[in-house]
Amino acid sequence: MQEKTVIARSLNTLRKTLESDRFKGRSIGFVPTMGALHDGHLSLVDLAQADTEISVVSIFVNPTQFAPGEDLDAYPRTEAADIARLEGAGVDVIYIPKHDDMYPSGSLTDVSVAGMSDLLDGVHRPHFFYGVATVVARLFIHVRPDVAVFGEKDYQQLQIIRRMVRDLGFQIDIIGGPTVRDPDGLAQSSRNAYLTIDERKLANTISTALHRVAKRLEVGANVSDALTEAKDSIRKAGFEKIDYVSAVDSATLQDLGDGPIDQGYEGRLLAAAWMGKTRLIDNIGFVRKR
Ligand code: AMP
Repeated sequence: MQEKTVIARSLNTLRKTLESDRFKGRSIGFVPTMGALHDGHLSLVDLAQADTEISVVSIFVNPTQFAPGEDLDAYPRTEAADIARLEGAGVDVIYIPKHDDMYPSGSLTDVSVAGMSDLLDGVHRPHFFYGVATVVARLFIHVRPDVAVFGEKDYQQLQIIRRMVRDLGFQIDIIGGPTVRDPDGLAQSSRNAYLTIDERKLANTISTALHRVAKRLEVGANVSDALTEAKDSIRKAGFEKIDYVSAVDSATLQDLGDGPIDQGYEGRLLAAAWMGKTRLIDNIGFVRKR
């Protein structure tokens, strides 16, 4: 019989739980989230469970990754439903830390993965990846996982976490989980709940445009031509503002310039755009054919 999920609502309880006879000495797979869980999150839980003996999922809406005026207060919070889904998935421990567990009062220490945090999304949300790296580093220290799983949906975040783990010497394997999409191609996201019915019908245009551009780059199109075409179709679908559509190196996130891509090269296309009040992001990998 599956054992009961433990809900740890403080760092102290989490530590006691992980030190208890039930869990001590077993490998830990960790999935950090901000809640409002959907199938994308649950796919990461599956990956964590496949690789380790104990699964830990955290739910914490991290204030340091929101700027004043962003949607911190409006961010969807569905804790009871989240807990039920995680219990149903057989998660061993749900960590719902208190604010003071994550940020003890007077806390001064930040983690910054400079150089990768000021590109792409970082240009438009300058605080964002500093908040993410800081909270993920703290969560890693609390949970001490062997494996942590992050979604490719937030590709820049995934690469920044990989770099932080390497730079700081965390002994954690980082696994990237493929983006889970609705049937029309829209990447699942907690923020999709903000879309009106009419906006939702058009929201998959980013994914369609990125898939089309990827195919063109794979057969040698100029990056600048392909990106211009993608921006035009995203704009025509009703996205009022495009923050960026970029082709970058899949590991370093450095821009690939305007021309055709070298044969065999692995790149990543990333985009962010506004549909009404909702900011959507998406990305896709491509390899230039030989
Ligand atoms: P969030 O709760 O939005 O902070 O996301 C928690 C984790 O779920 C992050 O690693 C995200 O990249 C991942 N995630 C979010 N949406 C998806 C998706 N559609 N497919 C796969 N992973 C996702």
